[in-house]
Amino acid sequence: MAYVKPGNPKLIVDLNKLRHNIEYVKRMCAKDGVQIAGVIKGCTGLFPCVEQFERAGVQFIGSSRLEHLAELKEQGVQAPLLMVRIPMISEAEDVVRICEYSLNSELATLKTLNKHARTQGKIHNVILMADLGDLREGWWDKEEMTDVAEIVENELENLHLAGVGVNVGCYGSVLATTEKLQELVDVAEKIEARIGRELEIISGGATTSLMRIMDGNLPERINNLRVGEGILLAYDLPTLYGYDCSNMHQDVFTLRAEVIEVKDKPSHPIGEIGFDAFGHRVQYEDRGIRKRALLGLGKVDYGNPAELLPRMQGIQILGASSDHTILDIQALADQGKEIMVGDVLEFDLSYATMVYLTNSGNIDKVFI
Ligand SMILES: *Cc1c(COP(=O)(O)O)cnc(C)c1O
Repeated sequence: MAYVKPGNPKLIVDLNKLRHNIEYVKRMCAKDGVQIAGVIKGCTGLFPCVEQFERAGVQFIGSSRLEHLAELKEQGVQAPLLMVRIPMISEAEDVVRICEYSLNSELATLKTLNKHARTQGKIHNVILMADLGDLREGWWDKEEMTDVAEIVENELENLHLAGVGVNVGCYGSVLATTEKLQELVDVAEKIEARIGRELEIISGGATTSLMRIMDGNLPERINNLRVGEGILLAYDLPTLYGYDCSNMHQDVFTLRAEVIEVKDKPSHPIGEIGFDAFGHRVQYEDRGIRKRALLGLGKVDYGNPAELLPRMQGIQILGASSDHTILDIQALADQGKEIMVGDVLEFDLSYATMVYLTNSGNIDKVFI
């Protein structure tokens, strides 16, 4: 067993708040006839979190990482599992063994999945991905996509063509507009015309597609969304796009970190300036002598310190090295608020800091 230090820093996960967010998004989508895949890669598939998705009765539980899904399978999760990163050929056998569904964009991989499904005596369900301009996974050539759909339908006997999907807002920052998602429906209907039946699933993207549900302009036939961030953090839609998410909790996750030093120090380094611990040249602002605090965690734990969000007003994050985080707390001192060694400060998380912290074996996770 790996040593996980009890105490600080720790990540507190409020499962009731998470459950509320899942139920809220599920209900909002259900009004438009949309079911959701709960995407749990953002919290590294932490099992108590996954249980909340399962109890809420989501259509699928999805992750980009087979190791998350393997773990859930082992723990007895019954919900259908969806591999959301198109599979490597080398993991095709495990994808079939572990997941009921996968997203795909390569015929060679589909053939390999089919072969393993036959060996394992299974029918594996596939969703074919269309690239509509975000330029990550999916067929750009929709004629070729339709041809492959026909091959899956008629020749790959151990695969079931469950539907089509799209991903936007990841690499290319493309918005999930009504027009964009209608293009997906058009692709689906082209495939349906070719294979002579309806597809069960038209999966219209991730968290950013929730904006279409909130605006009431999601194309009629989209009936699935794969949602992670919009449930786990509910941060991007209100903060980046100005949508009202006041009925959801933005504080499912709390990072608690302990103060290990408090001192008045100059704000500009003293000496000849070279490179920081990560080999970068850094500009330092000289604001004279300021009160600073150090926290006993660093970049190894959360990635980028600028993406930690202090709950307490008046704390400015100056920077970090691997295992130390440096705060300017002069504004607090000016208000007469004293921070002392041993105090614990709380932070909200961004998507990236959540991914790092939940992945870290050194962070004690506490579920409340
Ligand atoms: C990560 C991912 C999702 C979920 O994205 P969120 O922005 O967290 O909702 C959905 N689909 C695919 C293919 C993904 O990789």
